[in-house]
Amino acid sequence: MPGAARRRRADAGPRSRPAITLVLAGRAFVRGRLQPVEIAIDDSGRIDSIGKVRNGAVRHDVGDAVILPAATDMHVHFREPGGPPGAETIATGTVGAALGGVTLVGEMPNTRPPLTDVASWQQKVGLVEGRAAVDVLLFASPGDPRALPTLARRVGGFKVYLAPTTGIDRPPTPGELPALWESLSDLGLPVSVHAEDPGRFTPEARPLTPEAWNAHRPVSAEEDAIASMTLAPQRLRLHAAHVTSARSADRLRAAGLSFEATPHHLLLSDRSGTDARFKVNPPLRTEAERSALWEAFRQGKVPIVASDHAPHTPEAKALPFDQAPSGVPGVETLLPLLLAKVRSGELDLSVLVAAACDRPARWLGQPLGRIAPGHRANLLVVDFTRRARVSGRQLRSPCEWTPFEGWEAIRPREHYRDGEPIVRDGEYVGRSSGKVVRPEYASGETVPAPAPGD
Ligand SMILES: [Zn+2]
Repeated sequence: MPGAARRRRADAGPRSRPAITLVLAGRAFVRGRLQPVEIAIDDSGRIDSIGKVRNGAVRHDVGDAVILPAATDMHVHFREPGGPPGAETIATGTVGAALGGVTLVGEMPNTRPPLTDVASWQQKVGLVEGRAAVDVLLFASPGDPRALPTLARRVGGFKVYLAPTTGIDRPPTPGELPALWESLSDLGLPVSVHAEDPGRFTPEARPLTPEAWNAHRPVSAEEDAIASMTLAPQRLRLHAAHVTSARSADRLRAAGLSFEATPHHLLLSDRSGTDARFKVNPPLRTEAERSALWEAFRQGKVPIVASDHAPHTPEAKALPFDQAPSGVPGVETLLPLLLAKVRSGELDLSVLVAAACDRPARWLGQPLGRIAPGHRANLLVVDFTRRARVSGRQLRSPCEWTPFEGWEAIRPREHYRDGEPIVRDGEYVGRSSGKVVRPEYASGETVPAPAPGD
């Protein structure tokens, strides 16, 4: 790669820098705040410099809109391979991501078959290339410990389920955990953990409402699982998925572990609805738990926000509550819902950009999420005056429903990938050029600390 870059520059004559192909001008989120800048993008799709206008390059002034780094959603479940007819695909799911301002997704392994070995990895790579609208980092489920090093040279991360879930019937027992953590420790990849201890689930004959579901899988199940995570070796890049309580957040921060919260746990409670569209794992919590988690997020104490996008078909969600699958769609609404909270003054833009753009990209080892020289020019243009309402029927996902029906949203007006528009005037105009990516950690780099202001 360096050789090819050198050759291209030598062919171009005495010029020592790559050619600037586009200049984006306007108020941009640079070094922690919005400021008027001009962003020069080079012919490799990277940000070359932030400064004065370059003569000769196409200049695009965004007017009263603002320029933000595109987001990373490190927790999605598209339905390939093995989804039911009419379900979300990697093609539809990544277009939804692009429209929602998400430039990289972390795709979880509990498909059919689950991604547990080289053959199932190869199958999923084939489903991404030539079909995905944005980049995809593939998580694997750790199976045979002897096969892990081979798998780790191909996949982008590991996902460990401490409770049974769709496609994962047998989670590791508490006794098996130390050996599992040990086998994952020296692979140099991020490890995301579904932290619920099934030993804490209460017997419940037929949970028929979100409140009964919350009683069945209580916060204490999450807190116990998180306690077991804090016993893992420090050198493991452990991250807790979908944390639902401010106490869990405090505990993870004290242990120096990364974690995420979802928009549904931040914005919805077990009283937000009564039907199976509001059934999710971990459950929606009480209003008191929800508002404490939101307050922690608002204060910058939740390092990462991710959607846990799980677009079950309307038919599956129309089943009686106790028979319906758990999960809600969210990749397309993740950023727009929270941009609306920025617009209403309930959330600082700097907190949102850190949690949705910068930290998840750093945790996954990607040159994304920041408007800085050398980073990929994966950028959004957001017009805060263009308010919209979330509508399941208007989402790109074929599931056509959302637990956020009618909520205010600010959708990105433009989305650039490597300096090329993939969304223009709110419409997808990309060419399915998404790639499978893997972490590129600088040597010696550690997990981004979940401290505020990092
Ligand atoms: Zn999930």
